[in-house]
Amino acid sequence: MNGDMRASDMRAGLDIGATKILGAVVDADGTVVAQSRQDTRPGPDGILNTATTVLDLLAAVLDGALPSHIGIGIPGIVDRDRGAVSHAVNLGLGGDWFPLAARLAARTGATVVVENDLNAATWGAHVLSGADDLAYLSLGTGLAAGFVLSGTLRRGAHGAAGEIGHVPIDPDGALCSCGQRGCLELSASGSALTAAWPSAGEVPPAVALFAAAAAGNPAAVTARDRFAAGVADAVRMLGLAVDPVAIIIGGGVAHAGEPLRAAVTAALRAQAATSPFLAALDLAGRIRLLPDRLPVGAIGAALIGNAG
Ligand SMILES: [Zn+2]
Repeated sequence: MNGDMRASDMRAGLDIGATKILGAVVDADGTVVAQSRQDTRPGPDGILNTATTVLDLLAAVLDGALPSHIGIGIPGIVDRDRGAVSHAVNLGLGGDWFPLAARLAARTGATVVVENDLNAATWGAHVLSGADDLAYLSLGTGLAAGFVLSGTLRRGAHGAAGEIGHVPIDPDGALCSCGQRGCLELSASGSALTAAWPSAGEVPPAVALFAAAAAGNPAAVTARDRFAAGVADAVRMLGLAVDPVAIIIGGGVAHAGEPLRAAVTAALRAQAATSPFLAALDLAGRIRLLPDRLPVGAIGAALIGNAG
């Protein structure tokens, strides 16, 4: 890779999360040409310093040449016009607007755009899947969805499109952090799965749960099926609300891979068994997973400027 490859069609993306920042440099079709990662230091200066380190690592891979466009996906409330973020509690950002784009642009000389992390990942799912009409269901700490509908990212009038994790499904359920009871993400999210099947050691809880269930552990089968039914509820909401061509499951839980897809499609088929209406919609047939180990959020962040 030499400096001539610093073509205008190359872009850098950062996926800023509470535990790590993933960086990628991609070409126009989303092919990753460099990747890096660092543990996140919280607070405005911590985030800025960690992001700068991740970019330095990318530049080192590319012989010092970074793209002149940097896209960032970050949790919290994002003002895209100002390139600022607030209320990213797990990153140590409170109610004051943090002008991330301007601060990082001052350090790098690049054009910097900031986007909500779920929107960035949704755009990454669009790029990687080639699907122009999709719901991206993110099973991370919580549960939320993003949409690309007929090729256009749907952010929502208040940035809340796809926050279906906070649809209450059990009026007698536990109190949710949002103030409601029995929200969907209390039964169908990475946190819910970890609570149901705590995993010691290196193996992620989702991987451990699906392995134990496959081995016939009755408690694991129960926990897996309960979790899969919750995810199927989410898929059904998405299918009935927007009827997308593809429903792509991502987020940390998606690292469980094919066993997850199989459990969710089985739950969807069970729901459809008594409903010719649901059966005709074939929601199970629309479920897709992305290739594992691709930094979907960073790829989407890099390219989302194209979304308009
Ligand atoms: Zn809630």
